[in-house]
Amino acid sequence: MNFSDLGLETELLRAIAEKGYDTPTPIQQKAIPAVLTGRDVLAGAQTGTGKTAAFVLPILQRLGAAKEALPRVLVLSPTRELTAQIADNAKQYGKFKNIRSVVIFGGVSEKPQIQSLRRGCDMVIATPGRLLDLVEQGEADLSEIETLVLDEADRMLDMGFIHAIKRIIKLLPKERQSLMFSATYSEEIRQLAERILLNPITVDVAPRNTTAQRVHQLAFRVAKDDKRHLLIHLFQHGAEDEGSWYQALVFTRTKHGANRLAQQLDNAGIRATAIHGNKSQAARVRALEDFKTGRVAALVATEVASRGLDIKELPQVVNYELPNVPEDYVHRIGRTARAGATGRAVSLVAPDEARLLRDIERTMAQSITIAPLPKFAISTSSAPSSTPAPAAEPRAKPAVKPATNPRRPMPGRPSHPNAGARSRRRPPRSSRRQSR
Ligand code: AMP
Repeated sequence: MNFSDLGLETELLRAIAEKGYDTPTPIQQKAIPAVLTGRDVLAGAQTGTGKTAAFVLPILQRLGAAKEALPRVLVLSPTRELTAQIADNAKQYGKFKNIRSVVIFGGVSEKPQIQSLRRGCDMVIATPGRLLDLVEQGEADLSEIETLVLDEADRMLDMGFIHAIKRIIKLLPKERQSLMFSATYSEEIRQLAERILLNPITVDVAPRNTTAQRVHQLAFRVAKDDKRHLLIHLFQHGAEDEGSWYQALVFTRTKHGANRLAQQLDNAGIRATAIHGNKSQAARVRALEDFKTGRVAALVATEVASRGLDIKELPQVVNYELPNVPEDYVHRIGRTARAGATGRAVSLVAPDEARLLRDIERTMAQSITIAPLPKFAISTSSAPSSTPAPAAEPRAKPAVKPATNPRRPMPGRPSHPNAGARSRRRPPRSSRRQSR
């Protein structure tokens, strides 16, 4: 099947060809004709399936060429990154159509957003909180919206946006087209769909709650204290002896943990930077840019970054800590193996995370291979530090620095310990602490 078989107009086909897409992905094959009919659509599509184009392309077509002062399309998305990416895609796909879109999200000055709204636009792409602020200030008028999109609706509910979404929906004309995209279907999602969608066409491309089959998943069982040393080893040698990693997205549970790990990796000679909700928008954009351009090898991220990051050919994702919610695992690993590429997800599982691993396997109805623990050194250069992780600055040096002595043993420790054997021989925690 070709894009031209989907009923898309010439201007859009040209833009798609320029993007280098040959074949529509399954979600695009099903959702594009459905959205073009003007009916409501409920789509179950995981991230990385090409779902953005699946709603942006037909919306651009339905917008036509007419320019009005007030926006006719509203896309709500959970994070700044995803919002920026949707806007970026809309700009590329709408290149030959001259569609004006305005991007609205928090964490940055609202002035330019207000100015853009005042100039008039066809499409607003926003996170719910900031959009409501602007509505309350009388700067955003949603009374002419013809199409509403809730992208990653499950994530928006997880992030507590339900009240903001309900308030926004009350401001929209009752007669409109509504599209809802969600990777998972909880009871809450079903209720929201019932509330906002009228007789929707349902499009489901992947079995619910299963993960992208193309992601090669494996896990290491490792003591919590040894995780950072193992991670350094993986960056230097690979997870399956394939050689050093040049790029990996590493997930931690906390912002503090992300900062600390980024610094530990950096200390060990692996260029790293952290991305999380406490960072300013400028710092987040810079971190992502540094990662995309290869200035840093490790992007250490919290959950908030697991949606909306679109990094071409990202080879691997590391779960430094498993997420508490199994669905988050699916989203995290969905950052790799996007749009036909293959990828790998490596999880470091401490004994107290064994239950989380089982929950994830149950949710996916799929088991994750436990890989034998490689021999890795305990590196002193990655010792914890109380100083925060440095912000990534453009650097000309390679992403993986030659470590000064990555295999230097800890005092009193063997130089090439087999960590698995070592952990079995370990003395009790209290005496270990004293010996450090
Ligand atoms: P998404 O799921 O919308 O975040 O898209 C994931 C990635 O797939 C993005 O990098 C898109 O540019 C890319 N993509 C979308 N549609 C296609 C297609 N038909 N062929 C190849 N790549 C695509």
